[in-house]
Amino acid sequence: MGVAKQLYQLQEVDLELESNEQGLRQMTSQLGKSQAVVRAQTRVASEQQRLDELRHQQHSAEWEIDDLVGKIKAAEEQLYSGRIKNPKELTSLQHEVNMLKTRRDQLETSALEIMDHVELAEASVAASSGEFKKLEAEWHNQQQQLSADIEKLKDKLSDLKHKRGLLSVEIDPQAIEVYDRLKKQKGQAVAKVEQGICRGCRISLPSSELQQARSGDLMQCGSCGRILFLP
Ligand SMILES: [Zn+2]
Repeated sequence: MGVAKQLYQLQEVDLELESNEQGLRQMTSQLGKSQAVVRAQTRVASEQQRLDELRHQQHSAEWEIDDLVGKIKAAEEQLYSGRIKNPKELTSLQHEVNMLKTRRDQLETSALEIMDHVELAEASVAASSGEFKKLEAEWHNQQQQLSADIEKLKDKLSDLKHKRGLLSVEIDPQAIEVYDRLKKQKGQAVAKVEQGICRGCRISLPSSELQQARSGDLMQCGSCGRILFLP
């Protein structure tokens, strides 16, 4: 096999290596936390916090109502016990009972409103928890699939590197040097020749260059410098 063909094969492997390495970098960058999952989790936490606050308000209102009910009961017992004879004292006690009842009514109204808010907040926590769990499960599956794909790609890369090693030991080290230098300069070191044209620079080759290229020896394009390969 001519050295030009060997270098062309080496380039094919190098191109495959590069594209797979790029794929690997891209896949690896997708590993890790998902912003959508983190956002959903934050939302659940903040809605749960709101629900806890509302429940706390509800309990406080209920305790206060219980307390007032007790006070009203005690005051009314006193009021109707007949023990208090002084009209001024009775009026004042009646006035206190009325105030306590007004306060109890206000609190009962507000406790009902809070209860409505608690129910809404509970529904909201349930909905966002469901959304969070769904997103997290999807993300978990994606990550598992991604990890499996990454492992497969790593195996493929290792096979390609092995193949490259086998190919390169067969090639004249000086030719490899030229190849590596051109690869660094131009990205692709070897250009196919098709219909007398160098595919690297799209310039027609003089017949002398074509003839040499046909021999399969290492021959560089007079225009772009790439190693010519005539299939
Ligand atoms: Zn050229």
